Amino acid sequence: MKKSILFFIKLGILVAAAVWLAQQPGRMTVEWLGYVIDLPVALAFAIMLLIMGVVALLYRFWRAVRGGPQAMGRRRDARKREQGYRALTQGMVAVAAGDAEAAKRHAAKAESLLDEPPLTLLLSAQAAQLQGDDGAATTYFKAMLNRKETELLGLRGLLNQAMRRGDRAAALDYARRAQALHPKAQWPAAALAELEAASGNWLEADSALARAQKTKALDKDTARHRRAALLIEESRSAAAAGRPEAALQAAQSAFDLDPARVPAAAQLARLRAASGQHGKATKVLEQAWRLAPHPDLAAAWGETAPKQQPLDLVKRYEALLALSPTSADAHRGLAAAAIKARLWGVARNHLDQAVATDPTAATYRLLAELARAEHGEGPQVSAWLARVASADPDPTWICGNCGVAHEQWHAVCSACGSFDSIAWRKPGAALPPAASSL
Ligand SMILES: [Zn+2]
Repeated sequence: MKKSILFFIKLGILVAAAVWLAQQPGRMTVEWLGYVIDLPVALAFAIMLLIMGVVALLYRFWRAVRGGPQAMGRRRDARKREQGYRALTQGMVAVAAGDAEAAKRHAAKAESLLDEPPLTLLLSAQAAQLQGDDGAATTYFKAMLNRKETELLGLRGLLNQAMRRGDRAAALDYARRAQALHPKAQWPAAALAELEAASGNWLEADSALARAQKTKALDKDTARHRRAALLIEESRSAAAAGRPEAALQAAQSAFDLDPARVPAAAQLARLRAASGQHGKATKVLEQAWRLAPHPDLAAAWGETAPKQQPLDLVKRYEALLALSPTSADAHRGLAAAAIKARLWGVARNHLDQAVATDPTAATYRLLAELARAEHGEGPQVSAWLARVASADPDPTWICGNCGVAHEQWHAVCSACGSFDSIAWRKPGAALPPAASSL
């Protein structure tokens, strides 16, 4: 609307100018090279305008002819790019949908149309992975290492591949490179803490863990839990290497971080007792026991007693039971000590109480032991052993990742290599979802 009004105003001015020019008297005479041209002023102006118009048209035509091929090339490039990005998008959608064939097809098309390796390499690698072609995926991931902007993504792809085929040494190498490349990135920090620990590099794992917490790759509680696990292992290897001071220090740090952590308390108490500090050992076990009674703490309670005579041990377990009079673990501990001290009545009394609250295999095993100690092998022992077989299994140290049971707690599962996955669980109970950070 505005445009047409403007057009009519322009037209009006032009017509008015033409009329005014036509009404002007006078003529224009040009004399040049022996020619004389004599025209009315209006016509002279009209001819001049016409000449200017023709020159402008010629100039535009000349420019179009000169820039033609370039403009056409630009249009062709734009079309190619557009098709390339469309193929890239379709490829990503196919990856998300799990359509390996389509992903591969679109990836190849995007690669041929786009000159952007950072984008097309990743899609090609993902398409190859989806097809189960690990070799091709590796090639693409390795090609990504050659470019700064894709190096970290390539390392992540290679690390995940190494983890899938169980090659922890290669995975550790990639995680270290990724961490060095991008110290503030979260996943390399979390992966490195786990892989260093899985390789038994407790000190390296410890500093990786600190970095992971700094980058917020791990929350505070998880980091604290894992740190305590590392310190327990650190303490065990220091003790095995004949460095009792370092062992004690690491165990104390683990216990301070997580007093409810049974292996930490048991380790610290044993080390204290071994260095003659029986009072301190008892205090550690008491503190842990109050948080949660546990058969490993009950075992350490006996081992760290200053006097090891059977009757002394019965007294010591009576003190443990006094801390938590309803604990089946305390009743079983006291019963086992009473059997060794040949106090059959005391043993039976406490096993009866354990059966009432916790009729598990461990309780029936002690009843069989009591019958054997008191009367020798016989039908009574067999009857209790039959109950052992049919009773509820006792909880044990089970890996939350692979479900394998372990006699002792370890920071790293010897069956599947995962870190900080072993916890006190009842066999057959549902495992928690895998909490791997990789
Ligand atoms: Zn495992």
